Amino acid sequence: MTFSPIWTDIDWDHRGRQDSFLCMEHADIGLDIIQIPISVLNNGSGPTVLLLGGVHGDEYEGPVALTRLLAEIDLERLSGRLIVMPAVNLPAVLAGTRSSPLDGGNLNRSFSPTATDSPTVRIARYLSDVIFPLCDYCFDSHTAGSCANHYPAAYVSLTGDRAKDMAALDTLEYINSPLSWGQPVLDGPFSEWVAVEHGVTYFGSEMGGCSHLQSNMLWHSERAIYRLLDHIKVLPLDEQWSGTLESRWITGTQGGMIYAPNNGVLLAMHEPGNNVRSGDLAGLIYTPEIPSQAPLELHYPKDGILTATATTGRVKRGSLTHWIMDESSKEALLASAS
Ligand SMILES: [Zn+2]
Repeated sequence: MTFSPIWTDIDWDHRGRQDSFLCMEHADIGLDIIQIPISVLNNGSGPTVLLLGGVHGDEYEGPVALTRLLAEIDLERLSGRLIVMPAVNLPAVLAGTRSSPLDGGNLNRSFSPTATDSPTVRIARYLSDVIFPLCDYCFDSHTAGSCANHYPAAYVSLTGDRAKDMAALDTLEYINSPLSWGQPVLDGPFSEWVAVEHGVTYFGSEMGGCSHLQSNMLWHSERAIYRLLDHIKVLPLDEQWSGTLESRWITGTQGGMIYAPNNGVLLAMHEPGNNVRSGDLAGLIYTPEIPSQAPLELHYPKDGILTATATTGRVKRGSLTHWIMDESSKEALLASAS
């Protein structure tokens, strides 16, 4: 008899639908197990696609989009294999927190091969060792979490393989989110880095945030997933997702971040999605605890597209208050990866 830190009764090659769990044990949780939901839908021939939600537990659109997909999908229309995990870091999802309450683990920073064993690292290892090697594509649905609101954006990790990157950007263009960006794969303890090592084309989204589920962001999240599945010929598109939207290519650097220079209450002057100009007033930070103190003025550091703003009300020195990204093109993004 052998023991594994995570086990499941899923048969990865079974034709049909399986709804089950990854069962995880760990010394930190005693004799109990954590049951992470996983569904595998396999029909016909085609690629294998991993759909992830709940990498961060305070991001709600992805988990709900995938819950709805599992309720609605018709297996007979599928060509390929879907692996659907709506609540992949389940302890964080149940707590509604970015990181796991069990170990403080941020799943998307837990993919280092030398990371110390913990519940979150066990989930990362299982994805790395068992699930990513099965996959051709991944879609990892995120939001800006508790602290910010992100204009709907989808992205893909670029690998430097020109033909593969061109195909990935064509797919991203078809996904047709209001904002699209591609970036060279991040080298570090990130899921995308491990997935790309296994040959997976890695898409993701940043749509919404601000501590609650927003119906318009849920719509964009679902639409992005269904349009991906259509473009890679895994699931034909329903009429409701077929309309096209205005979409802009973007790229970003840390030079487009504004951080609060002091503590206080933020008034952001513009909503995400707006074009902004260098030097214009971005926000005011008030200090009601010292009413005589004039509000601090924040100014945009560059021209660009405001992609996200803080939604916490009170900000602390060092808090990200605004994120401005640059307008780009598919060709420029492709060149950036080669
Ligand atoms: Zn996230």
